[in-house]
Order: sequence, then C-alpha cells, then structure tokens
Amino acid sequence: MKKLIIIKYGELTTKKDNINFFITTLKQNIISSLKDYDIDLKYDKGRMFIYASEDVLDNIIEKIKKTFGIHEINIGYELMGNDMEYIKSSLLELIKDKDITTFKVETKRSDKSYPINSMEVSRILGGLVLKNKENAKVDVHNPEMVINIEIRFNSSYIYFDKIKGIGGYPVGVAGKGLLMLSGGIDSPVAGYLALKRGVRIEAIYFESPPHTSDAAKNKVIMLAKKLSEYSGYVKLHVINFTNIQEAILKNCPHEYLVTIMRRMMYRISEKIANKNNCKVLINGESIGQVASQTLTSMAAINCVTPMPVIRPVACLDKLDIIEIAKNIDTYETSILPFEDCCTIFVPDHPVINPSDENSREYEESFDYETLIKDALSTSTVIKVENKINAEHSSIL
Ligand code: ATP
Ligand code: MG
Repeated sequence: MKKLIIIKYGELTTKKDNINFFITTLKQNIISSLKDYDIDLKYDKGRMFIYASEDVLDNIIEKIKKTFGIHEINIGYELMGNDMEYIKSSLLELIKDKDITTFKVETKRSDKSYPINSMEVSRILGGLVLKNKENAKVDVHNPEMVINIEIRFNSSYIYFDKIKGIGGYPVGVAGKGLLMLSGGIDSPVAGYLALKRGVRIEAIYFESPPHTSDAAKNKVIMLAKKLSEYSGYVKLHVINFTNIQEAILKNCPHEYLVTIMRRMMYRISEKIANKNNCKVLINGESIGQVASQTLTSMAAINCVTPMPVIRPVACLDKLDIIEIAKNIDTYETSILPFEDCCTIFVPDHPVINPSDENSREYEESFDYETLIKDALSTSTVIKVENKINAEHSSIL
C-alpha cells in the first residue's frame, strides 16, 4: 500500500470541448506550485494522483489548497490490484488503530467489468468493519467516518478524509488580463476573483515619487506576492505617474483631477495590456464606493479605452470584500498606512457627474500623449514569485 494524494476536479468535467486543455493546464499548475518538492503526478480519468515521500504530504496539501481547478483533495492509499481479498485485508490494516463509531462505506468503480457491483462491495466491506470493530455502527445519513473505496482497472484506492479544494478554473485557461493593483483592499480581491475564473494576471501599479514612497510600492509588491500563491508568479509593471499627475494638477479644474487621473491610468494600462497580450483590464472599482465610482463617473473614465474592463467586486458590499481580503490574507497588508497616488491629490469636492466631453476639453490643455509615452518608456517590470524563503522579487 502506498500513501498518496488524490485530486478531484469536478467543475472541469463539464467543459467537454476544452477538457484536454483544462487538464494539461491544471497539471502544469500543480507541478509548478510543487516545484520545491520531489513528486510524481499521474492522471487517470477524472483523477490526479500525487506521489511523494510521506513526510511532505501535509506541506503539499497546503500548497494545492491554493490551486484553482481542484475541488477535492484526499489523502489515500493505493493498492496495486483490485482483488476483493486484497482490498479487505488492506482495509483491516488501515482501520486497525482507528476508533470507529458510526460509519458508512462508499464505493465507486471506474472498472465497470469488475465482477462485483458498487453496492455489493460496500455491503461486503461494511460487514467486515462491523465484524472487526466492536463499537462500529452503520449510519448512512450522518456517519462519523466515511470509508471511500475506488476500484480502477489495475489498482484500487481507500481514503477516509475529504478536504475541500478551492474550486474555480485552472489559472491560464481563460487567457490573460491586466490587474490595476493599488495598495488598497479592493484590487487584490479583484485579482483573486479573476484568478479563480482561470484568468492569468499581470499587474500594473502607478507610483508618484516623491509623493509616494518606496514603502507604498513595497506594499503593492507584498500584495502581488500574496496573489502569486494562487498563480505561481505575477509580473508587476511599475509606472512612474508623477509628471502626469503634476501636469493634471497644474492644468485641469480640481474637481476633475480624479476623473482625468483615472482616464490616464486606463490609457496607460490599455497600452501595457496590448503589449503583453492581456485581453482585458481588471480593477477593484465598486459601484458607489467613492465619487469616482458612480456609474456616470465610471462611464466617463471608461470612454478612453475600447478594451473590456472587468470589475470583479463591482457589486459586492465593502464588508464582503473585506471578508475575502481576510481569507486570502491581503487585508492586513492593505490597511498598512502608506500614501497612495490616488489620495495625495484628491480634491475636496470631486465631480460626481463628470462627462467625457468636459474631460476631453480639459485634457487638451496639456500634451498628455507625450507624457504617457515617457511614462511607458521608463516603466519597469518586477517578477514577483511564490517561492519558499526566496527573495520575493527580481527586476526583469
Ligand atoms: P483599492 O482599495 O483597490 O485601492 P479604492 O476603493 O481605493 O480601491 P480607487 O482608489 O478609486 O478605489 O481605485 C479604484 C481602482 O483603481 C483600484 O481598485 C485599482 O484597481 C485602481 N487603482 C487605483 N490606484 C491605483 C494605482 N496607484 N495603481 C494601480 N491601480 C490603481
Ligand atoms: Mg485605492
């Protein structure tokens, strides 16, 4: 008997046309998230099996709990055969030291030519447990222990505990998007939700030194690192936004500062996205949260790009966003008190109903295209990786 990890990926099986692509991507993602371990991975109809030395199985499970596309994880035992006597003796061996009260046996056969049907296998093994364990009682509705048996062609599997996987689609199956990542609470959550739908993300961060500090940038790198736990790595584009922001401040009515600043962010993001094969922009805008996130405001800002903008948290309550942020462990980083380029120039009374027309008129007062070109030409990229005890980033 060999102890191993069994993986199930429920939602994927419904995607008939793309199933091979889904499975290959999931396999690659698992292998890359486990690159620090010596593992073997086998795929067999609806299941993946991970073989590794027993002392690292728990660490491996912690890793794959963050791999999208996995719906259930089991620590199980592999039997190199499916003979009934062999299954019986193996099960007895496994429950030898277990205290069993109420239990049921669930059997699945992928080998339909197996001479005994699933119900019968469960019945035989249930009888065996009853005979060998004094306190054991069958309870099919609410058992303390479920004994799972899977019979395959040349092997069979026994497992007890089911661990819920994170679900979603494997990162990468949906293509790539560019996440506008600030140091706030909302955008890391938006990134996480996009990853969960199988979108690989690159990130873009606008900094305004000296108005924003290195500490503020490091906070964004820390958030990207948190996201990389779900995707292996995140490429973070850093844009120097100082000259653009100062030009807006100097040339545009103050009530339009935020609208125009955000339009500039969208314009730059679209260019970075196109250059890096990202099909959509993703951000943490949430309807009604601040003046720049009224529907009219979002429309006036969105006018500058034909690229689709995905807003995963648009319709969530702030409290629900915070709950996700806590679950994915970005919250404590997000609330660190570093200045953000959006907040340093915020006017007292931002316009609530800005228009595209007015914005364009004000933008004509300075040569923003040249400023955007300059900002693009000085942008830097940091590859933020999910590595144990490793330096978290490297400048590309
Ligand atoms: P967050 O909590 O994500 O910072 P927010 O509620 O503070 O969001 P805004 O500051 O208006 O809202 O920003 C809305 C969205 O615009 C952010 O969620 C983020 O996607 C993007 N954004 C804002 N500032 C930056 C920045 N400096 N760099 C990159 N993206 C930004
Ligand atoms: Mg913000």
